[in-house]
Amino acid sequence: MEKILTRNIAVENSHRISTYIASGGYEALKTVLNDLSPDEVTDIVKNSGLRGRGGAGFPAGVKWGFVPKETDKLKYLVCNADESEPGTFKDRLILDNDPHMMLEGIAIASYAIGANTAFIYIRGEFAAQTLILNEAIEEMKEKGFLGKNILSSGYDLDIIITRGAGAYICGEETALLTSLEGKRGYPRIKPPFPAVAGYLNSPTIVNNVETLCCVPHIIFRGADWFKSIGTEMSSGPKLYCVSGHVRNPGVFELPMGTPLKELIFEHAGGVLHNRKLKAVIPGGSSTSVLKADEIDIAMDFDSVAAAGSMLGSAGIIVMDEQTDMVDACYNLSRFYAHESCGQCTPCREGVPWMTMILGRITNGKGGRRDIDLLLDICKSIERKTICPFGDAAVAPVKSYIDKFREEFDYYVENKKSMVQENEKSDIVAN
Ligand code: SF4
Repeated sequence: MEKILTRNIAVENSHRISTYIASGGYEALKTVLNDLSPDEVTDIVKNSGLRGRGGAGFPAGVKWGFVPKETDKLKYLVCNADESEPGTFKDRLILDNDPHMMLEGIAIASYAIGANTAFIYIRGEFAAQTLILNEAIEEMKEKGFLGKNILSSGYDLDIIITRGAGAYICGEETALLTSLEGKRGYPRIKPPFPAVAGYLNSPTIVNNVETLCCVPHIIFRGADWFKSIGTEMSSGPKLYCVSGHVRNPGVFELPMGTPLKELIFEHAGGVLHNRKLKAVIPGGSSTSVLKADEIDIAMDFDSVAAAGSMLGSAGIIVMDEQTDMVDACYNLSRFYAHESCGQCTPCREGVPWMTMILGRITNGKGGRRDIDLLLDICKSIERKTICPFGDAAVAPVKSYIDKFREEFDYYVENKKSMVQENEKSDIVAN
């Protein structure tokens, strides 16, 4: 497939506006401001079938359409650059190498929803990327693509960068907005949805970096062109991150619906050290794990959901036969226990409790009842929390027990890891 989102990555000075303009950059913005009404822009994006690349996969144009037209409140566009899902590093690639693609997407989306102020909420750890963005915004202003009366169109736009403080939960859109307002990053109950009552209770659209990067290409080349890539229900190009036990980890731009096997064995070079594949997390750490015999699937929203997991952020984590799945589960659970915002009891108490039990098991002190207790705690958290974090923390625990129960049983019965024991027997046998 022709590279679209990563077309400039290997070009020298790819982050500069001159490089971006030389590759056709900002032509879409000119078309939008000179020839299209906000509703026409929204319709084009709706017709393209673009679905949000941040995790939930909600159609972007439909979301824009939820912004009330008859309101005297200010409207806001927020670019979610808080990429913090373990296993995900695609937005950072764009921020590092092609920030103007995202900025053009922000300008077009802001125009479509009637916003004159846009924010980029960037994760605190992205200090270098913040500097790159600051420079890119200055370049944009110098060329007349930002500020008052952009390209003599009468449209004004300001883009403001806000750095988070490194909290995973601030990637959730309502927590992000609360943080943007200067408060502790607590998620809010939905509804109302941000499109109606978001930043400062005003209509706000939150879109992920990759989602916004698709927008200039859709405007420039048309909704039908975008729909011709990928699958019927998941159109367009996709940035897949592959990490873990593979020979060639990285970000791969491929059509939506690319087979997971192709991603792992062709693009990422297969399993490291020629070991056997054991498990794959398909969409970032909060998505249910798949066993090696379950990966014959297409990587689009609906196919991964049909396989019992989620495309999520497309952060694919590959685990080989030597992975101790109980320990891997403990590792993820520790992360979620640390990142819970603490606002609701099932999550605040339940996730650290699960982590403590998993730690007990991996330390050889677990009892038989511990595994069922873990599943009970999962039930007490699932769908009983303010935000999806509770379910995200439960998904690994439930799916690891469901699919690798024998490893959990072995731990509690033998007080040691089944994988390590198998390795020792292999060494003796050889
Ligand atoms: Fe906070 Fe967890 Fe409740 Fe979400 S589910 S609001 S992260 S305590």
